Amino acid sequence: MNLHEYQARALLKAAGIPVPDGDVARTPAEVETIATRLGGEVVVKAQVHAGGRGKAGGVKLARTPAEARGHAEKILGMTIKGLTVERVLVVPAADIATESYAGIILDRATQRPVVMVSPAGGVDIEEVAAKTPEKILKLGVDPRFGLLTHQAMQLGFFLYRDLAPVRAAATILQQLYQAFMDAGGSLAEINPLVTTADGKVVALDAKFVVDDNELDRRPAIAALRDVSAENPKEVKAREAGLSFIKLDGNVGCCVNGAGLAMATMDLVKYYGGEPANFLDIGGSSNPDKVVTALEIITADPSVKAILFNIFGGITRCDDVAKGIVTATGRLKLAVPMVIRLTGTNEELAVQILEQAGFSALTDMDEAVERAVELAGRAA
Ligand code: GDP
Ligand code: MN
Repeated sequence: MNLHEYQARALLKAAGIPVPDGDVARTPAEVETIATRLGGEVVVKAQVHAGGRGKAGGVKLARTPAEARGHAEKILGMTIKGLTVERVLVVPAADIATESYAGIILDRATQRPVVMVSPAGGVDIEEVAAKTPEKILKLGVDPRFGLLTHQAMQLGFFLYRDLAPVRAAATILQQLYQAFMDAGGSLAEINPLVTTADGKVVALDAKFVVDDNELDRRPAIAALRDVSAENPKEVKAREAGLSFIKLDGNVGCCVNGAGLAMATMDLVKYYGGEPANFLDIGGSSNPDKVVTALEIITADPSVKAILFNIFGGITRCDDVAKGIVTATGRLKLAVPMVIRLTGTNEELAVQILEQAGFSALTDMDEAVERAVELAGRAA
């Protein structure tokens, strides 16, 4: 689950990290009021679940409250990476001396949180990693001990020379680590972490992603979810108990089990196609889930062929077949569909499908190759 910057800032602030004052607004008038209260120059910042807002024109400096209002009129309602801006954050403008990067991710390979810092902050860290990897220092943390002071200092010295900002950064990194662990984070990022003209180290931006699996035992964090800022199809899928991730290709995939879904996407690519989505209908599928899955897939105009790949274990093939028949009775399918079913109640499923005029394959390679070919023909 992604948090907005204003929510992430609140987590950082609660952990003791210096963040500028500021407030969130939904209208230009509110922005003007906040800017007046803050006094002096302010920055108006789009609140969407996307990075690179600065480059997209979603972060603007204003000298007066009236100017802030003017910026808000443009930023509110604009789209950044397909997301509509519903709120803006208004903060006092900082007098920036240097911009660095500080972040923590969960590294699956080492099974540890990894803290990363770079003196080349402000810009895309992916770009720094690709072009000048020597400008990034990474350090894996043993979760039994947390981020120890000497490690935090080592990271601090990679950013600054003077002891005062090094110490300040080290403290911030330890606080960031604590916030990351407490919230069940999968990513926490401060970019830029700045030094100001008067020598303070301050977090000017905050990004936080929480692992969905950590939400059940953290109701306060779960309550931060902003459904209106999420991809509507992903929301619908989550509410129906499906895992769905939108991708860029044209083969709509409907699969049971995350492993099989991954294998299916690999095979789609192997046969020269591109998956339009990852979709796992889960283990104990009922026909309703299949209906929702098909609704989500068919609503995507880039889907040129639909591929069902079901390995029946706990999932019963006849349930999936019933779902397909129900869904296709309700929705007019505009694209071809390839169905592969094997396992529990396979014979019954084939009967149900044949009665409804569909045919089913049992071989996965054959099904995937056929779906890729049909999608390619339509494209
Ligand atoms: P992002 O582009 O979505 O990562 O948004 P950021 O919050 O990181 O803002 C982008 C850039 O705007 C920063 O890297 C800074 O260079 C600049 N910026 C943001 N806040 C301030 C500020 O208070 N003062 C100044 N001078 N620049 C700022
Ligand atoms: Mn940033």
